[in-house]
Amino acid sequence: MVKERIELRAHHGMCLTFFEGKGYSKGFTEHMQSIYDTMKDNPELKVVIKEDIICQKCPNLHKGYCKTKELVQGYDRRVLSHCGLKENVEISWEKFSNLVIENIIVSGKRKSICGNCQWTKICESKERIFLK
Ligand code: SF4
Repeated sequence: MVKERIELRAHHGMCLTFFEGKGYSKGFTEHMQSIYDTMKDNPELKVVIKEDIICQKCPNLHKGYCKTKELVQGYDRRVLSHCGLKENVEISWEKFSNLVIENIIVSGKRKSICGNCQWTKICESKERIFLK
């Protein structure tokens, strides 16, 4: 049986890279942890600019939409652009993750994409190991 592709919003490729068991609420964090664990099996993804599997348990999701929709869509568009990808691209987690690491994190672009996010300090402290 063919497994369904996981829809992942583009900027969550960065969030998953630096996830360390913290999040908006207990339910959200547990959910995010389960998705983080799923990525270890290198699932096939569809990279989207809309509410995704991670957003499903987020307290910021209101009537199906992120309360900071414009802000996070900007993050998504910039991630896709830096990785040379188009919205709705189908790709494995491993390939997508490597593109994010190479084109955004190792090249020091992360802060210019989502430096105003409330979690930026976590990423800042962890990205140092990637920076050349
Ligand atoms: S803040 Fe918005 S983009 Fe981030 S997980 Fe929550 S609903 Fe999704």
